[in-house]
This record gives sequence, C-alpha cells and structure tokens, in this order.
Amino acid sequence: MFVILMGPAGVGKGTQSKRLTEYLKVPRMSSGEMLRQEIQSGSTLGQAIADHLRNGELVSDEQINTMVLKHLEEPQNVNGCLLDGYPRTIAQAETLDQFLRERQRTVNAVIVMVADPEELVRRLLSRGNIEGRSDDTLDTIRHRTGVYEKQTSPLVGYYRRAGIVHEIDAMGTPDAVFERIVRVFEHAA
Ligand code: AMP
Repeated sequence: MFVILMGPAGVGKGTQSKRLTEYLKVPRMSSGEMLRQEIQSGSTLGQAIADHLRNGELVSDEQINTMVLKHLEEPQNVNGCLLDGYPRTIAQAETLDQFLRERQRTVNAVIVMVADPEELVRRLLSRGNIEGRSDDTLDTIRHRTGVYEKQTSPLVGYYRRAGIVHEIDAMGTPDAVFERIVRVFEHAA
C-alpha cells in the first residue's frame, strides 16, 4: 500500500507518520529528513540544497525525484511506503504515478491534514525552539506556508480526481488526530 501524507508545515505530518507507519506496517519515507541528512553529510547535493531548505523553498523536482525514486526502488519499499512530504508539486506527483504504474502499483490513499494557520505558526515556533531547525523561524514559516498553498495544495485536486483523498482535521491532541486518520483505513479494510 502506498499512502501519501500531506499538509502544511507544522500540521503534524512527522508525528502522525511515525505512528501510521507502525499501524499500516509499511516503511516510512520523509523527504525532508532525507534532505536534512544529505546536508549533514556535506555531499555536493547537500551543499547545493542547503540554502533552499533554510529559506523554505522547495528543492528542484529533478533533485527530489532522483533521490526518492532511488529510495522507492529498494526492496523493502517495493510493496508499499508511507510518503511524508513527497510529492509536493504536480510534476512530482506525475513522476511518482508513472514510476508506480510501471511497477503495476498505484497510490492507494492521500491523507490531507488540515489545521488553523495561526495554530501552525505557534506549533512551528515552539518546534524551532526545541529542535533548532534552521527553517522554523517566523519569516521562513510564513514563506513555507505560501509555498504550500501555491505549489503543493493543487495536489489535492489532482488526487481527488482519482477519488483517494481523505481530509483530516489536524487540530487537537496527537492521539485524537491519529484516531481520525486510522478511521480512514478501518473503512478501507
Ligand atoms: P519537511 O521536513 O517535509 O517540512 O521539509 C523540509 C524542507 O525540505 C522543505 O521546506 C523543502 O525545502 C524541502 N523538501 C522536502 N520535501 C520536498 C519535496 N518533495 N520537494 C521539494 N522540496 C522538499
């Protein structure tokens, strides 16, 4: 089963995807974590993308597609994966669709987490203090929210056409939100 977890920065994708990966028994892939590891490794790619992450800009479709598809080709991911933070543009979604189609697979569900924008800013500022992420500053947070609206939210319409979108209210405790997500899969079972 291939599941995409979508939502603006701060909505709780990381927290929920870590729980959902256990519930669904499929591996999890976070594109943001992969990119941060790449930067930490000091590789050429890491150096090339560091400014993008710091400024809250998306890295190029080509760079992210290459990295993600290589990962999805690994044996543990061929039967399914929970995708956290990928795809983030229509072009990425089309690349993923084609990749899966060639392997007789498909995206089975898209979970879209929705929350009040002011709550998101509050959560992200508190995460910036705790985890020290370079992109959790007020200016960058606002920018990332704009990038999400402009470049990523059109994906909801794209996947809606396939009838696989589930919008989840992401306000409330992590437990309450997780219960709402799980309900999607209980219905599917
Ligand atoms: P995240 O951890 O998902 O919030 O991602 C952190 C940052 O990594 C984003 O603000 C982007 O700069 C970059 N990033 C993560 N996933 C993607 C993607 N699918 N396409 C382009 N950039 C990405």
